Amino acid sequence: MKTLALIVPCFNEADVLAMFYEETSKVIDSLRDRYQTELVFVDDGSRDDTLRIIKDLASRNSAVKFISFSRNFGKEAAMLAGMEYAVKADYIGILDADLQHSPELIPEMLHFVDEEGYDVAAANREDREGESKLKSFLSESFYKVINRVSETKITESAQDFRIMKKNVVKAIISMPESIRFSKGIFSWVGFNVKWIGHTNRERAAGETKWSLTKLAKYAVDGILGFTTSPLRLSFIFAFLSAFIGAVAFIYGVIRNIINPLYAGFIPFILTGMFFIGFLLLLSIGIIGEYLARVYTESKDRPKYIVAQTNTQVVYSFSEDE
Ligand code: UDP
Ligand code: MG
Repeated sequence: MKTLALIVPCFNEADVLAMFYEETSKVIDSLRDRYQTELVFVDDGSRDDTLRIIKDLASRNSAVKFISFSRNFGKEAAMLAGMEYAVKADYIGILDADLQHSPELIPEMLHFVDEEGYDVAAANREDREGESKLKSFLSESFYKVINRVSETKITESAQDFRIMKKNVVKAIISMPESIRFSKGIFSWVGFNVKWIGHTNRERAAGETKWSLTKLAKYAVDGILGFTTSPLRLSFIFAFLSAFIGAVAFIYGVIRNIINPLYAGFIPFILTGMFFIGFLLLLSIGIIGEYLARVYTESKDRPKYIVAQTNTQVVYSFSEDE
């Protein structure tokens, strides 16, 4: 029998856990003949009754596992802990505790990874129902920016809700960076992804754990983690400065030709200033280029990820290892 582990990051989800457990258990039961399933709750430093409820579930059902953090480390850390634990399973899934990610989709996801040869089946949100206008606008803008500046393409509607084969999870946890942006990492590791349309439901109970400041930090982590192009802005400013200096110079020359009586030197002072600006910004840009390399190297990501091979290579995440 194949094994499935479902990771559920939870932060102050006491209001919704009973409902979540009931709905998810139905799905797990329906898969009982083919998959042995573990439900892995990661309590991300909840301050409410979340941990007590999870422990209670675990005492009644040995297929319930939990990992409880010493404080709130964020959903990224919770997903990572879950994956590091669950990588022993054949299939590993991630879903939110608030039932916005319908557990009923799991059998379909499993079908694609188990029978159709996909490595990942992931939910693709079809609309942004149950989300404020401001939040929708901000996240749309964020994806526009990140997809412009980063080489790693991130689908706007892509969700964390997914089921992955073991080898994909091995690849994901082999990325050692500590400031993690999973949406980028999921896309960076590649593999064959089946997108499944999914309409987000309203949160079953409780409220969103993502404040605007948390989301802003998340957006910055995403952009800084997947591109070094902001470091290149200095070059643009440098050439802008050089251009303004040149315009001032040409203006000064023409003015002095047309009107030698009132020959002025101010445009040339401006030229000098902007030329110095150009040199300074150029130097900063060069430092930025080195810094970008140091940054990229320091992340120590795998240089490549092998999906299949019939021989042994350094980074092998093939299933039959
Ligand atoms: N979550 C977490 N740690 C956090 C914030 C959220 O583990 O610091 C969990 C949360 O319990 C939920 C999931 O991540 O299971 C998604 O959070 P939420 O539903 O609040 O986000 P939204 O759906 O509003 O984007
Ligand atoms: Mg939610």
